[in-house]
Amino acid sequence: MRPSILNPLFSSVTVLPGVGPRMAARLEKVAGPLLLDLCWHLPSGIIDRSHQPTIAEAKDDELATLTVTVDQHIEPRTRKLPYKVRCRDDTGFLTLTYFHPQKDYLIRTLEPEKRYLVSGRVQDYRGEKQIVHPDLIVPEEKQDETNLIQPVYPSTEGLFQKTIAKAIEGTLEALPELPEWHDQTVIDSRGWREWRASLVHAHTPKTEAELSPADPARHRLAYDELLANQLALMIIREHAQPLDVRPIKTRGSLLAKVFKQLPFELTGDQRQAIRDIRLDLADPRQMTRLLQGDVGSGKTMVALAAMVDVVDGGRQAALMVPTEILARQHIETITSLTLESGLRSALLTGSVKGKERKEILEDLENGSIDILVGTHALFQEGVKFRDLGIAIVDEQHRFGVHQRLRLSEKGRSINMLVMTATPIPRTLALTLYGDMDVSRIEEKPAGRKPITTSAVPLERIEDVVASVGKSVADGNAVYWVCPLVEESDVITGTAAETRFNHLKSVFGPSVGLMHGRLSAEEKDAAIRAFRSGETQILVATTVIEVGVDVPHANIIVIEHAERFGLAQLHQLRGRVGRGSKASSCLLLYKSPLGDTAKRRLDVMRRSNDGFLIAEEDLKIRGTGDVLGSRQSGQPFFRLASLDHHLELLQMASDDARLILQRDPNLTSERSQALRMLLYLFRHDESMKYLRSG
Ligand code: ADP
Ligand code: MG
Repeated sequence: MRPSILNPLFSSVTVLPGVGPRMAARLEKVAGPLLLDLCWHLPSGIIDRSHQPTIAEAKDDELATLTVTVDQHIEPRTRKLPYKVRCRDDTGFLTLTYFHPQKDYLIRTLEPEKRYLVSGRVQDYRGEKQIVHPDLIVPEEKQDETNLIQPVYPSTEGLFQKTIAKAIEGTLEALPELPEWHDQTVIDSRGWREWRASLVHAHTPKTEAELSPADPARHRLAYDELLANQLALMIIREHAQPLDVRPIKTRGSLLAKVFKQLPFELTGDQRQAIRDIRLDLADPRQMTRLLQGDVGSGKTMVALAAMVDVVDGGRQAALMVPTEILARQHIETITSLTLESGLRSALLTGSVKGKERKEILEDLENGSIDILVGTHALFQEGVKFRDLGIAIVDEQHRFGVHQRLRLSEKGRSINMLVMTATPIPRTLALTLYGDMDVSRIEEKPAGRKPITTSAVPLERIEDVVASVGKSVADGNAVYWVCPLVEESDVITGTAAETRFNHLKSVFGPSVGLMHGRLSAEEKDAAIRAFRSGETQILVATTVIEVGVDVPHANIIVIEHAERFGLAQLHQLRGRVGRGSKASSCLLLYKSPLGDTAKRRLDVMRRSNDGFLIAEEDLKIRGTGDVLGSRQSGQPFFRLASLDHHLELLQMASDDARLILQRDPNLTSERSQALRMLLYLFRHDESMKYLRSG
């Protein structure tokens, strides 16, 4: 149960005065639905109104706050003319100008002969000084309560700064005093302040420097968030790991038999990864291993080896992938390699229904299916294994962090292998996976030729079509990728369909089409035709991005490459360069290119190295996206920025480990504060694992 002291923070923003459903919706869009979300919505800038000249001193176009006495209200003769309020000080006159004003409001707000602070941009207008629609009007006696340096918040349409600022002010007033969860020594050595003071400080910056991630208040808040993250990960990891995972002993003979059929030699890194996994399986502790390897490095073979070993040890294996196409591709590879050795594998996706599905579920439960491949349908209710020994997740980055956590909950006593081609820099891997073990495949299979990448403006598309024609005549196979279409294009047909029709009119029946709206069978047929050589050009949307493997395809054209992110371009390019033929990648872009797009395409041209590209991607995009916020819709961290707070992450990781060593169930007094921290960052899930104190 959440401590009641936190309740105010978990109330809806609608409890704030002046926030109705419309404003709430806008606040939710920029920050979130709760007061807590407003807490984390830190200012991105300041407006400094501390310059306080006299009227005579105030210069044109200068942001100034002036102390003036209201002289008189001057009503316009027609409604088209502005309403003016003339003010004065000892040095001259200042006109406050309002278009379409609410008269009552002005009469109430600016009483003649009273003194006010007014702030805004001063203009010289026909020899008079004026401020049009002042941003701030405060009676002089209230000036001490007034901040002349105002925070500026990230906002959205229809949400005024004043409204956000007021909502956040209300939130800060409701902040409870919370017990300290950090060690006092840490607080002291860093010069940090307590949580509440830090939060208030972060929302009332006085200088640009205080907006920087290096500011002590922001540092502390970032550390709070990182510590909560690390604690939650470690708790789940520790407690989701029972001690009684049955070791899986394999004789290795089954795998040897399966691999005898491979037309190639495994790389050293593949063999090492397979050995790592075998050791994990034989160990009574649950395996949680991450297999990282660039696109095309051959992760599927490692997955296969792990599954065959598990089956050899008398258990079942499951492989979960993000798309149906990939599931079908994997089941084909696996079946063709294992059928002879007597293994039985099956496919379970959303489109497997009725009698077929029922039979599969039965055979899973009675153990006659050894290997199950599927989409997330695989972990839904009703799917029962007789004795599942390993769960493998392919293209892990496609699944959000939350899905992954849910999965590891499902597989409490099951060995887990997650595979990703998105090379996550080590530091980020730590936040995503905690202290998961990692195997890396860095070595590419032998005989691979590098992929030549070039960027070509869309105007030269006919040249590209001509050269594609030549390549096809030489027996090459080509992917032609079109970006996803915007809503409005849906009626008129997708970009891919248009391009398909175009290329078909040039090349005839050797052109195939694949996009997301086709049925699973249609997609499957398109891939098959392309794999068998029946079609030589496959026009596709990004549905081919993940994992699709047609080794003889050696040319990829990416249309509107400027619209794709770097990681995605690299993934797409990874569809080629899988065979022994030289491959090429053509990035067709619409000019003029923006700066970011230009940088991306340059990186693509220069490098084929997934790790380098991931690093560059981080530099260009920041960490948010890389951590999969795209999938979950929420940035992974609200307060911490891994571009700036990496050092804190390491510290949080060490700290979390120490805390849990000393107090595994968080029962001590300081731990009560830590539990509060976990609630604050919504890691309620993790606490389910703690024995109550
Ligand atoms: P990814 O790591 O991107 O999932 P895949 O497992 O799809 O890569 O492998 C890419 C291609 O390389 C496949 O066609 C696969 O059969 C082939 N392959 C895998 N290992 C080797 C190897 N050691 N030597 C040659 N080809 C290999
Ligand atoms: Mg793969």
